[in-house]
Parts: sequence; C-alpha cells; structure tokens
Amino acid sequence: MQIASTIAAMQRLARKWRRAGAAIGLVPTMGYLHQGHLSLVRVARKSVGKHGKVVVSIYVNPAQFAPTEDFSKYPRDLKRDLRLLRGEGVDAVFAPADAEMYPGDVAAGFSTYVAEENLSKIMEGASRPAHFRGVTTVVAKLFNIAQPDVAVFGQKDFQQAAVIQRMVRDLNFPLRVVVAPTVREADGLAMSSRNKYLEGGLRRQAVVLRRALDAARSAVKKSKKVSASALKADVKKLIETEPDARLDYVEFFDPETLMPVAGVSAGAQMALAVFVGKTRLIDNQQL
Ligand code: AMP
Repeated sequence: MQIASTIAAMQRLARKWRRAGAAIGLVPTMGYLHQGHLSLVRVARKSVGKHGKVVVSIYVNPAQFAPTEDFSKYPRDLKRDLRLLRGEGVDAVFAPADAEMYPGDVAAGFSTYVAEENLSKIMEGASRPAHFRGVTTVVAKLFNIAQPDVAVFGQKDFQQAAVIQRMVRDLNFPLRVVVAPTVREADGLAMSSRNKYLEGGLRRQAVVLRRALDAARSAVKKSKKVSASALKADVKKLIETEPDARLDYVEFFDPETLMPVAGVSAGAQMALAVFVGKTRLIDNQQL
C-alpha cells in the first residue's frame, strides 16, 4: 500500500495507473475509520475489479467545519487507519496536511471554492451554512488529485451524496458516483467517527435516532399517507424522551430532488439531526 502525503505524489501515481489502463476507485474519508468506511472500500474494489486501484483519502477538511464545530477535536488515528486499510488490500492512501490542501493564509493563498447552490440550502446546509461549500470544494480537489473513474460515498450522509452527484453532473467530472448503504451497530445506531464522543449514558440514548426512523416508517405503513408536520411533531416528542437528546431538524422529502413533501407516504426519504449531549448525529432512511 502506497502512502502519498503530497498532491504531486498522488497525481503521479494516478497518472501512472491510468496510463497502464487501470481503473481508479476513490473513497474520500476524514479517517478514524469504522466498518462503514471499510464497506465503501469493498464497494470501490468491486467497482474497479482486482486489476483496478483503490485509493482512500484521509483528510479532516477544515473548510467544512464552522469555527464553533469540532474540527480540532475530531478523532484522528492515522496508524490504526493505515492498518485497517492494509487489511482491505487498498492500493494507496492519500493523507495530506492542511498546508498541502489549503496553502498560505486565506488572503494570500487558497481562494477558489466550489459551491452547489440548490440542494445545499436545506437540512445540513441550513444548520451548517458553510458546510457543503467546504465539502464540494475538497471533493472537487480530491477528484483532480486522485483522478478516479469511480468515487464511493455513504448513504449515511444522504444529502452530501446528492450534492456531490449534482456537482459531478454540473461540472462534468468524468467519473461515476456510487452511493453505498449505511452500516449500523447491532442496536441500530449508524456507525460514525463521532460516536466516540458518546460517553456514559449518551451512547444508549443515541439509539433514539434509529427509533425515530422506525416510528415514522411504521406510521407511514399504517396510514399510507401522513402529514409531514404531524410526523415532525411526533419525532420531536420521541427524541425528547431521552434526557440529553435535542432535535436539530427532521425532514421528509423526495429522495431525487430533496424537495420537502407535505404528505409523507412510502418511498419518501426521512433525514434527521439530533444533538446527544454536545454531539450532533445524523441519520436517514427511505420510508
Ligand atoms: P466521513 O469520514 O465521516 O467523512 O465519511 C466518509 C465516507 O464514509 C462518507 O461518504 C460517509 O457517508 C461514509 N460513511 C460514514 N459513516 C458510514 C456508515 N455508517 N455506513 C456507510 N458509510 C458511511
């Protein structure tokens, strides 16, 4: 497994592989890997075949964190990540430093951003205003650096995957985006690097996101069509049964357009964000 920490080294490797006719699959991550990430690596391997090359990027991207968020304390463990990725037969890891990705200070250095301006406005974009601009910018950079034929993202971040698919289409990136299913803990909590923050009783309370998704699914199954505002009120009540949980948002929407729906029926997508203690968790599923 090759480890590239500079853009030049990663681009050299990608160019060499492309010249040799190997397909490249990229899995962008922020590290502190779990089984969810590793499932994306396996999807990437399947997409490019055994003669293809799988690249995993590990980079905690400062541009997608607001100053009040957890950038500096986001969990990091590169040594462990590399061990896990070696075990998966990954061909290369791209793990750059901040100065490599965003050189210079803001005024004198990096000053070009990519922004999707429709799907990014609601849900995560409303709660975290500069977040998607940071995501699309870094992912566009990673596409130019690793030059993938296929890029794999998780359904766990449903809106992010939709925004990236739109960016790829709008800016004509010559690659295919694959979205892979959410991997969960045994009790239904979606795997996330941020689950590490859930200490003591918070870990147990965090399962309430899964319970909210299940409750909405049963409501829709029972009544065929339910009003979104009634369902939202029920979800809020359910979340608040946990002493340290607070609903940030819950939305019901068309999975293709992300347009909110007033009447929720089978096939609608549900997404929610919940603070459990100080940790903000997200989850989603199709109803
Ligand atoms: P992150 O490191 O959190 O930025 O995530 C990197 C990629 O892994 C993103 O495409 C996520 O959607 C995906 N991912 C994160 N958690 C999961 C999970 N539990 N199951 C599947 N994919 C995931």
